[in-house]
Amino acid sequence: MIQSVPELNPGLRILLGPGPSNVHPRVLKAMSTPLVGHLDPDFLGIMNETMELLRFVFQTDNRLTIPLSGTGSAGMEACLCNLLEPGDEVIIGVNGLFGERMCDVAGRCGAEVQRVEAEWGKILEPEQVGAALKQGKTKLLALVHAETSTGICQPLEEISRLTWEHGALLLVDTVTSLGGCPVTVDRWGIDAAYSGTQKCLSAPPGLAPITLSPRALEVVKRRKQKVQSWYLDLSMVERYWGEERFYHHTAPISMIYALREALRLIQEEGLEEQFARHQRNHLALVAGLKGLGLELSAQKGHRLPMLNAVRIPEGIDDLKIRRYLLHEFGIEIGGGLGPLKGKIWRIGLMGHSSTRNNVLLVLGALEQALRAEGHRLEPGAAVVSALDAYGE
Ligand SMILES: *Cc1c(COP(=O)(O)O)cnc(C)c1O
Repeated sequence: MIQSVPELNPGLRILLGPGPSNVHPRVLKAMSTPLVGHLDPDFLGIMNETMELLRFVFQTDNRLTIPLSGTGSAGMEACLCNLLEPGDEVIIGVNGLFGERMCDVAGRCGAEVQRVEAEWGKILEPEQVGAALKQGKTKLLALVHAETSTGICQPLEEISRLTWEHGALLLVDTVTSLGGCPVTVDRWGIDAAYSGTQKCLSAPPGLAPITLSPRALEVVKRRKQKVQSWYLDLSMVERYWGEERFYHHTAPISMIYALREALRLIQEEGLEEQFARHQRNHLALVAGLKGLGLELSAQKGHRLPMLNAVRIPEGIDDLKIRRYLLHEFGIEIGGGLGPLKGKIWRIGLMGHSSTRNNVLLVLGALEQALRAEGHRLEPGAAVVSALDAYGE
């Protein structure tokens, strides 16, 4: 006989890692809204509103702008496996974990993958990308806008221009950037972008907003072969979200409710104010960290406001500090991945988690954790520096 399982009761956490971020109570409330059928006229209206709100955050007029069922990686897989066919040439920028993941996915599509690389924590230079584009007949260039594994924000405008010059499509991973810093799909000439709900959009994980330009959609329509994934075949999914409402799979209704509410919150605050808030809290965090003698590791001038990669000084135990923050304060921050494992902490200030209170709390907690480890620090230095940055 199966033993009775206790009521669900995980610890209350302040989520300041690489995602998920904290979810606004209004989003949680929206998720508990009673279900309607996924082809119910009321739900069709809700789908249309959600698409309209997504066009607003992606800053695009693209008709095909929808939340795919699945997490951010499903968005990555959908874009690559719809835009690429076996033998196609694709250039992928690799300077962190997610560029690496794109190479894996594109390889599984049978594409010829050419990597353009930079050290983890550095941007890809437009000249590098330009040189790679000159070498062959590239169909697609794929880049990560906000590399969550390193804290780097990849500049896109110059690279977009080069990509268009060479007649290639531009695919951008905006999982961490969307909602936290400008992502102007139409102005930057991005042909395809995907994101996730649990980073700066501050909904639970489970949907992958994507947008495809008319040019990219043409490429999907003119494929020689069917997309190998039935579930992620965008020409089928498009018919479900389009005028026809042709049944493909059942939309995760409660998740759409959540995303719609999360996007409504962003609309109420305003995109520009949302970006400004992320920047303000980032600068205050950096000032506070400096007060603790800690520095960011990502290339200067290209640091993300929502993901702060903090160099761990010699002699400090990465895991001990993170455990202390979790157990003593209920704060989650992230560790390093790949070559940065044990070398950095990743402090996320994403969406609803990006607040002044959270900045002051994590700084105070970090100071306490370091003191508990025997590091001599001037009490209150971090919080005072952060308050100074806020002008208080
Ligand atoms: C989180 C993340 C992903 C993957 O999203 P999942 O929701 O974990 O599948 C992809 N790219 C970037 C840049 C991310 O930060």
